[in-house]
Order: sequence, then structure tokens, then C-alpha cells
Amino acid sequence: MYYLSTRDKSLRCTAAQAIAQGLSRDGGLLTPAVLPRLSQNALEDMKEMSYQQRAVYVMGSYLEDFTASELSGFAAKAYGTFDTPEVAPLRPVDGNTYCLELWHGPTCAFKDMALQMLPYLLSASLEKNAEKKTACILVATSGDTGKAALEGFKDVDKTRILVFYPRDGVSQIQKLQMTTQEGGNVGVCAVEGNFDDAQTGVKRIFSDEALREKLAERGFFLSSANSINWGRVLPQIVYYISAYSELRRTGAVEKGAAVNVCVPTGNFGNILAAYYARQMGVPIARLICASNSNNVLTDFLQTGAYNRNRPFYTTMSPSMDILISSNLERLLFDLSGQDSQAVAGYMQSLAEEGRYTVSPLVGRKLRELFAAGFCDDAGTQRMISSMWREREYLIDPHTAVAFDVLKQYREQSGDQAPAVVVSTASPYKFCDSVLGALGVTELAQGVDMIEQMEQLTGVAAPRPLADLKKKTPRFQDSVTKEQLVEQVMKMLN
Ligand SMILES: *Cc1c(COP(=O)(O)O)cnc(C)c1O
Repeated sequence: MYYLSTRDKSLRCTAAQAIAQGLSRDGGLLTPAVLPRLSQNALEDMKEMSYQQRAVYVMGSYLEDFTASELSGFAAKAYGTFDTPEVAPLRPVDGNTYCLELWHGPTCAFKDMALQMLPYLLSASLEKNAEKKTACILVATSGDTGKAALEGFKDVDKTRILVFYPRDGVSQIQKLQMTTQEGGNVGVCAVEGNFDDAQTGVKRIFSDEALREKLAERGFFLSSANSINWGRVLPQIVYYISAYSELRRTGAVEKGAAVNVCVPTGNFGNILAAYYARQMGVPIARLICASNSNNVLTDFLQTGAYNRNRPFYTTMSPSMDILISSNLERLLFDLSGQDSQAVAGYMQSLAEEGRYTVSPLVGRKLRELFAAGFCDDAGTQRMISSMWREREYLIDPHTAVAFDVLKQYREQSGDQAPAVVVSTASPYKFCDSVLGALGVTELAQGVDMIEQMEQLTGVAAPRPLADLKKKTPRFQDSVTKEQLVEQVMKMLN
């Protein structure tokens, strides 16, 4: 199976090359030329499999250059670090709503689902490509990716990992998680500005040919662990298929019965994986895209017009504070019938004017497949509070946005089909917001909020977060986005 650039489909490569490279040289995203199909019977067979076996089954259909035994080894190691054998448990919330908890990995956010796997895929890809150089992995993070990538790649042979986070855009706990990271091949640095500034700065480095040459002389090549890397998207497809298998295993839905999924969305990687699962044959009816006040996607999915020229809000769901959702490009490539020329045009217009409008045909497909809504901070707080009071279920702000948008969708459409709400972070990553929503006005300092929340709710904090109070920060640097190149060279010394 080949992978094509979304901006020029004559550029094609193997899975191992796509994963090693991260991004296509022309700035496009490497995307599978065809999507494998799963029959309803194959889905039934998966009922009895473990999460790891499901991962091998699904990933194997995309990774022809990897053997099943290789993938089994990766899955065992990647998901052996989770705090529950189910890996991604599906929790019934009410009669027809299920919450897919994706935060049982070592950094307590859904990014672990892919970033515990990616290092194995990347290392094996480097070997298959006979690559001699060390991979220098650059990450722009809105908070969770950075820590998950650091934890996944720490002390992985032939890799260096450098993480840039927006100085004022992450929670105290997220910041501490990153600045206390252990490992000999890691670096962490703050960037002045918001996530888009950090992401734009990092993207610019990828297209800096002079820097590439300088790095090559020193034995490095650039790679990406952001969700533009196919090795990030692929492991995410697995949990949608796994969730459906769970619904079947427990008899919650009949064979072939359709469900909706509601996904708290930022860079569009998570919901894109749900779209791919749907195209592969999982009976997903509606993909419901949940945004916070940065509702660029809500408008886009409803009108077909993308416009990032709007105020940027810093919200209590920072991983969704994004106005340029990179992975949307892969969806447009698919929905336009792989019209890479059209996609290149949209992306050029986005870069130059901050806006583009898709063709009427693509616009119609978007409206058929997706529903979209948004929820501001006040609504997020209300949802956290009512979930706790009515169901004793403690949820983080990102997950609350999704629950609220599902509620709006059901009220507006009357569609009461069973729905899977994707839960993307442990509430303990966002103690200040969650405690505030529960009515606490006197917040403890820093990591002490973790104990404060444990005492208030009786819900135990995940171990890696409870252990933060024993750690001291290692990384203090802060730079502007113009200084990023210099900073990369400095950190590689
Ligand atoms: C990354 C992240 C999101 C957004 O996911 P995308 O794949 O970027 O759309 C939502 N919630 C949390 C907690 C995240 O870490």
C-alpha cells in the first residue's frame, strides 16, 4: 500500500517512509492511497480479542512492510504501560451514551494511545529504510502531545526529541509534567505566544532547507511526532474499532447497528481517525465534532467555509485552542476524491489569506457525515458540575465540551442513536478548572491541587500525576518563535 501527499498525489512512498518522514517534502500530509475494508464478520470476530490483538489486526492492514509478529511485539510493549488491561475502557453513562476513556496511559491524556506506539513504529521504519542518521523529532504542543511524546521517546535509540509549548497556553500540571521529564535525549522549551505560534514556528523549521543541510552534516534528520505523522493517526483508528467491538461484546448494540461518535476536537487527528474507521466499515452514522469557543470547525463543517481570521480564545480546554486544524487536510483529500490540486489550492489560500471555501460537492459531503457544535467555558463548567452531581462521574474540561455538544446535537436533531463520547484526558490534568467547576474557590498551590481534588471527590488520582510532587523541573528556557531555529541547534549540542 502506498501513501500519497495530499498536495501532490504523484509523490508516493511506503508506510515506513511515511512514518520516518512525518510530513511530505511539499508540505502535504502523507495519506493512504486506499482504505482497507473490514467486513461485519471481521468486526464480530474482534469481539473476543484483547485491545492489543485488535491493534495488530487493524494496523497490519495498513502496514504491509511490517510483519504481524513485529506488530504484536509493539502492541504488547506500547499498551503494557496502561493502568488497566482494557487499555481503552468503554464506560456506560446512561442508557444510550458510552464514554470511551482514552487516558489510562502514562501521561493521562489520549495522546498516549498513539505516542506509546509511534516510537516502535518509527524505530522499525528507520531500520527498514536503512537510515544511518538520528531522528530529531520536533514537537509543537498545545499541552498533552509534548508530554506524551517525551514519555514515548525518552531514551529510545537513534532519536532526539525536542518539545515546544506555548508559554501561557498550558495548565500548571501540564507544564510540570513536561519540565520534569527524565531521559538523556529530551529537550523542552517554552515559546512566547499561543499554540498556533508554536506550530507555525515548528512547521517553518521543517521547510527550512538550509537548516536541514546543517543538521544532516551533524548526523540528524528532522521528523515529527505531531498528529500530521501517519504513525499517530493509525493507532487512533484502532480504538474506534475496539469501542464498537466492545459494544457488540457486551450486547449494547445489535450486529451492524449504527452509533454516533462525539469527539472533542483540536487539530482534527482524533475525529479523522473516527472518519477512517467509518470508511473501513465500522457502522458510525454521524461524526459529531465538538469545539470550544475557538469554533472555526463548527462554522466550517456547517458552511464549507474555513476562516481562521477571528479572535483566538484561551480556554479551560487548551488542547482545543486551535484555529488551524492540520489534519483536516487529509479529510479534504479523501472527500474530494484525492484531488490533490484542489487541496493544495485550499492550503495555499489558508496560508495567504487565512481562509478557503471547499467545492459545493465537498461541502455537501461534510454536512452529511458530520455534525458540529461548540461549548464555551461557562457551559464546560456546568457540564463538569452536573456530571459529578448527577452521575458521580468526574470528567475533564475537554470531555465536558464533548458531552455538552452531544446534548445540543440530540436536542436539535432528535437523533437518539447510541453515542460514544470520547474522553481525552484525566480530570486530574486540569485540577484548577475542575475544582472551580465543582464550586471550590480556595485552590491549593500547584500540584497540591491533586490531593485537594482527591479529598473532595474520593476519586483516586492516576499514579503518574500523584507522583509529580516528588519531582523538580529540569527545563526553564523560553524563546520567541523567531528564535526557534537557533534554539533547536542549541538543544542538539
Ligand atoms: C489533543 C487533545 C485533543 C484534541 O485532539 P485532536 O486530535 O488534536 O483533535 C482533545 N483533548 C485533549 C485532552 C487532547 O490532549
